[in-house]
Amino acid sequence: MSCLFCRIISGEIPSTPVYSDERVYAFADINPQAPLHVLVVPKRHIATLNDLGESDDGIVGEMVRRAAVIAREHGHGDGGYRTVFNCNADAGQTVFHVHLHLLAGRRLGWPPG
Ligand code: 5GP
Ligand code: ZN
Repeated sequence: MSCLFCRIISGEIPSTPVYSDERVYAFADINPQAPLHVLVVPKRHIATLNDLGESDDGIVGEMVRRAAVIAREHGHGDGGYRTVFNCNADAGQTVFHVHLHLLAGRRLGWPPG
């Protein structure tokens, strides 16, 4: 198993858990870009957004809703937060296992770099 996030999900590589259920894992980003920076991933390997099929609509919905719950639990529901999927090189995707970034706790610039 060569995928970094699959190894994190299996526990082979340690991470700081934020949430876990049968289908979704959320953990702290190792190089946080905001006071709260969490990655929400499907436990099943999917490389990029381009690899999503119709049957993945449910898992993507769970990931987005989970990010919103985590943001609210950390007190950022009203102040605001950002969720980002990077896909492939031009967007800066470096780990090829779909992940939703949740960023909060500071004013985030727009447009992004
Ligand atoms: P991408 O650039 O692919 O959208 O985001 C990958 C994210 O994974 C980056 O924010 C990076 O800091 C994070 N990351 C990379 N390696 C590790 C790791 O070993 N552990 C954790 N917790 N995060 C990682
Ligand atoms: Zn994977």
